[in-house]
Amino acid sequence: MNRLLIETAASDYTFARSGSQWIGKCLICNGNLSFDEPTGVGANLEHIVPRSRGGTNDPSNLGVTHPSCNAEKGRNWDSRRGRQRHTVEEYQALLDRLLQRREERRRFPE
Ligand SMILES: [Zn+2]
Repeated sequence: MNRLLIETAASDYTFARSGSQWIGKCLICNGNLSFDEPTGVGANLEHIVPRSRGGTNDPSNLGVTHPSCNAEKGRNWDSRRGRQRHTVEEYQALLDRLLQRREERRRFPE
């Protein structure tokens, strides 16, 4: 999973490597984020469309996020409780926003 985290950061133009750290912006809140490359500590790999809903490891579905943002989305949006709190349309709008942001930040290999 750490390899995917690094590949995802490398394909997001907001991220740059500095020593053993990757520094960039959280896909969900857009706030500053840094994580340690050897351990991955400081970030989570976000599946925009959750695996439980058929989301894959395709780069277009992955983002680097704060662990707290990743957890908040899981709890309040992706989970059963999230389905009670939000309409299907609100949930889909969130996923669409994140997929679009990921696409806008994509850095494709040359
Ligand atoms: Zn965040």
